[in-house]
Formats: sequence, C-alpha cells, structure tokens
Amino acid sequence: MLTFDRKISNFKSIVLKVVILLVMFLVSVLVYFSGGTKSAISHLMYIPIVLSGFLFGYKWAFFLSLIGGLFLGPFMPLDVSLNVKQDLANWIIRTVVFVLLGVESGIAKNYVSLSEGKYNRSLYYHYATNIPNLNILKMLDENELEPSKGLTAVTVLILNYEKIVEFFTTEVYNKLISNIYNDLNNKISHKKVVLSNNSNKFWLLVDDNSPKDVVKEIRDIIVKFRRENEFSVYFEFSLGHELIYSIAEKEETLFYASTNKAYKVAAAKNTIIADKINKQYDYTLLSDLDLSLKDNDFFLVYQPLIPNYKTRTLFFEALIRWNHPERGLIPPNDFIPLVEETLLINRLTLWVLNKAIEKTKFFEEQGLDTRISINVSPRNIYSSRFIKSVIDIFNIHNVDPKKIEFEITEGTAMNASAETIEHLQQLKDLGVEIAIDDFGKGYSSIYYLTSFPISTVKIDRNFTLEILSNPRQKILIEESVNLLRKLGFDVICEGVETFEQLEIIQEMNVDYYQGYYFSKPLNDQDINNWTKNYCSILKKRFYN
Ligand code: C2E
Ligand code: CA
Ligand code: CA
Repeated sequence: MLTFDRKISNFKSIVLKVVILLVMFLVSVLVYFSGGTKSAISHLMYIPIVLSGFLFGYKWAFFLSLIGGLFLGPFMPLDVSLNVKQDLANWIIRTVVFVLLGVESGIAKNYVSLSEGKYNRSLYYHYATNIPNLNILKMLDENELEPSKGLTAVTVLILNYEKIVEFFTTEVYNKLISNIYNDLNNKISHKKVVLSNNSNKFWLLVDDNSPKDVVKEIRDIIVKFRRENEFSVYFEFSLGHELIYSIAEKEETLFYASTNKAYKVAAAKNTIIADKINKQYDYTLLSDLDLSLKDNDFFLVYQPLIPNYKTRTLFFEALIRWNHPERGLIPPNDFIPLVEETLLINRLTLWVLNKAIEKTKFFEEQGLDTRISINVSPRNIYSSRFIKSVIDIFNIHNVDPKKIEFEITEGTAMNASAETIEHLQQLKDLGVEIAIDDFGKGYSSIYYLTSFPISTVKIDRNFTLEILSNPRQKILIEESVNLLRKLGFDVICEGVETFEQLEIIQEMNVDYYQGYYFSKPLNDQDINNWTKNYCSILKKRFYN
C-alpha cells in the first residue's frame, strides 16, 4: 500500500528545528540592536513562527512559538537606549499571539496536507471501492515483480455488472467488488498487483509464470467467495490470461491480450446472463442457490415408472426440490429456468447425478436392480467440461452408467449443435441411456429422432390429460407410440392420473407409465417403503 503523506526525515527535521531556533535567536539579536521591542523589527518573529507551523504541524509550532515569545520576553527591554523594561502584560500578550499564530498555521498545514493526500489517493484509488487503478503500476518498484521470468496477466470480467447496478444500485455493486478485490488481494499466494480501471473488470499481475495454476487459483477464490459471501447478489464472471515478460508500458496495453481472451471465453461459454433473469429476486435466488448447494438445502424426490411387462429393473425419475431456508419449499419450475440461464446449472445437475448414483448404490446393496433418470439441461450437454465431470463421477463411484438415464427435452435435441450431438454420443458410449422428455410438447421435429443416440421417449403429460376428452389426441398418442416403438425406442407415457386414462393407454403398448395414479414423487424414506411394497406385489404378479 502506498502512502501519500510527504514526511520529512528525522534528521532533516531536527536540522530544520535548529535552524528555526537560530532564526528566532537572530531576530531577537536584531530586535535588541535596533533598540528593543518598540522597534517594528520584532514583527520579523512571525516568519519563523509561521514556518514552524507549516513544517512541523501545530504541536511543534506551539512549542517553538512559545520559545520565540520568550526570546522577545522578560529579558528583552522595550527601549534599549533608555533601559526601559517591558510590562509583564505586554510580553505575555505577545507570546500568546505568537503561540496562536503558530498553532493556527500548524492546523492550516494539517488541513492542506490532508486534502493533498486525498487528492493524491484519488489519482491512484477508486474513491468508493478503494481499488487501485492503472496509475498504481507507475509507482511499482521494478524489483517487486520480476517480469523477466514471466508474469501472468489476468483479466477478471464481471459479466452481469450492469444488471447488478440496475437491480441493486451502484453502492451494492461497489461493495461487492471491493470485497472480491480484498479476497483476491489476501488470498493469492504469489506476489501480485490487483487493480481495476473499469467497473466491470479486475486486472491482476501475478508473479508466477504458470498461467494455468494462476487462473485456477483465481477462479477457485472467486467461486468460493461467491458461495460464501454475505451479499445475496449472483454474479457471473470470466477469466482471460496472458504470460508477459515486460511491464515497461505500465498501461492498459499490458492487459489487452488477457482482456480479449476473457471476452472470448465469455462468448464461447455463452455465459452472459440472458434477459430472462431480470429481477432483483432472480439474482437473490441464484445467489442463495449457490449457498444452498453447499448447505444441502436441496433434496431429491423419486417418482416410480411402472413397467407394462415383466422386468426386474425398477425405474425412477429423480426430481429436485429446494428447501429454501427462508422461502420454504420451492418447486423446480420456479428456479430451474433461472438456473438454466447460468453456469450454475452444471453444478446443480452434477449434484443431482451424485445423489441419484448414491441412491442406485443404496438399492444395489438391498439386492435391487434399479435405473434412475435425471433431468439434464441444454447447457449441460453443451459443456465439454460437464461431460468430463460426468465421466469422472461414474469412475469415482464405480457404478454402471446403464443405471442412470439422462432426460433431455426436445428443445435440447432440436437446437443441438454438432458439439452437443458429439457429447450425447460420448455419454451413450459411456453407457448412459438418453431419453427425450416431454415429447410432443414443443414444436416437434421428428427428424432428430433418427439422428440422435436416444433410447427412450417420454410422451408429454398434456397428451394423457386430454386422452378421454379429445379423440384426436388419443389417435395422436396411439400413432406416435407405434411410430416410436417401430423406431426401436422405449416409450413412456407421463401424467397418468386416473384409472380411466390408464385403461385407454394400456391398449397402446407403451413400455412404462408414470403419474399420480401410481405414485406421486416420494421422498427418500417413502420411496424405500414404496419399493418394498411394490416388490412384494411384483413377486405375486410375475415371479411366483
Ligand atoms: P418433468 O421432467 O416433466 O417432470 C415431471 C413433472 O410432472 C414433475 O413435476 C412431476 O411431479 C409431475 N408429475 C408426475 N406425474 C404427474 C401426474 O400424474 N400429473 C401431473 N399433473 N403432474 C405429474 P416437478 O417435480 O414439479 O418438476 C417439474 C419440472 O422441473 C420437471 O418436469 C423438470 O423439467 C424440472 N425438473 C425437476 N427436477 C429437475 C432437475 O433435477 N433438474 C432439472 N434440470 N430439471 C428438473
Ligand atoms: Ca423429466
Ligand atoms: Ca416430462
């Protein structure tokens, strides 16, 4: 940290004080030889007094002006030639005036240097956040960082800063980023300079020539901060880095490359927060979600899928629930669409995957063969990092990927890029089954059915809903089921709520039913009990 008070060195200060005393003494000698304190020369004493205030502040000025007063005090005659002494009151009043003058100039000097310090600070630090700006580089000691070995220049972009300002005010945003700044400054392990010239970015110079490690450390610090900070404000960020070997310019140009990369990373990951997240409430909820994932405020419920034929595999769909510490139970439709707009969806889905795998392992220990499907968002499948994490998770848990099915929506399938299809293929190769969820809900294109590695199709529950009232709907389901089965898919009919619906659907040769008629989604304990009951019914029905 730089200081801006211009301090005089100790030695210089002593010399100057002696000089002031000498000047005062000289003035007194002059006063004496010009005839005594009646002479106007005595006014010369003001000069060393004012100087002492300006040089040493009011405390020393008090002391020195007192001495000045005494020099012209009781031992100095009023008139030397007539040998007239001064009145007591005369020299005391003069001394008091001297002291007042000295102290006043000392106070004035303190005030001026305070404003000067503030002005100087404002050249180097942001007035509200206290984050240093680029000028701080000019104050850098060349030996402090060693560019010849390579420094990592990093740009941290806060992607949604405009929205945060819009929904939470500049004040909140400033507090947020000054806290991020402090965290970075305190926690980065190498020598570094952290600064920011624009409201939406930080620049860092880190004395480490392995950019990968630096970027990882910075990302981890910010992600941890985001999870644990006291602000209920969700922010998204991206990082760019560049190895540099000279900081001669000490200007923005130093960070051109890393800033460009940070923007490119943001664009490639499609991280810039969409317009869908456009309320303060949304940002607060997203911020809470990050925290809740850590605190385990989420849980899964399981809805059984009932097979239409003899099978020993029990099939469940895992559905997420959020037990928000303040807002209570929040259904997925109220937060999943928001989360899907951000990279948090990757953490969330991986959390679900872990839990679902743990559950299949639990059932395995009970001697039961199960499959659990989880809901996967478009952004998940788009991300190669997500796919890599999925593969890692299966390896860590050492579980057969066939026990897990990923449900993707038609939207994911229809808007799939080449990368998405490649990622789905990777999952399929791993052994994970892929299902199309809510079939028929959107603007369906049946083209993708033939070009995707899918094994299951789940017909949207809106069809089931109208199956009794709308004969055309019934024909549509019937023909769809035929088509889908001919294409080799397992077909699941969602939203079976009544016996009447079931009677009609039973004629249609679907593979599984799902719906409230059989069971609502059940919590961890209830699904275990349900499974016990169901197994004993199955035994009676099929396996006697
Ligand atoms: P979905 O994948 O279509 O899940 C089925 C939804 O229909 C569930 O609602 C379930 O409770 C409900 N449902 C099941 N049977 C019936 C029925 O007979 N009648 C009616 N009316 N509804 C039935 P839920 O749990 O509220 O989930 C809503 C949506 O939220 C899910 O729709 C899914 O898109 C999403 N979702 C849930 N959990 C997750 C998750 O872990 N990750 C992601 N990305 N999305 C999730
Ligand atoms: Ca689903
Ligand atoms: Ca569905």
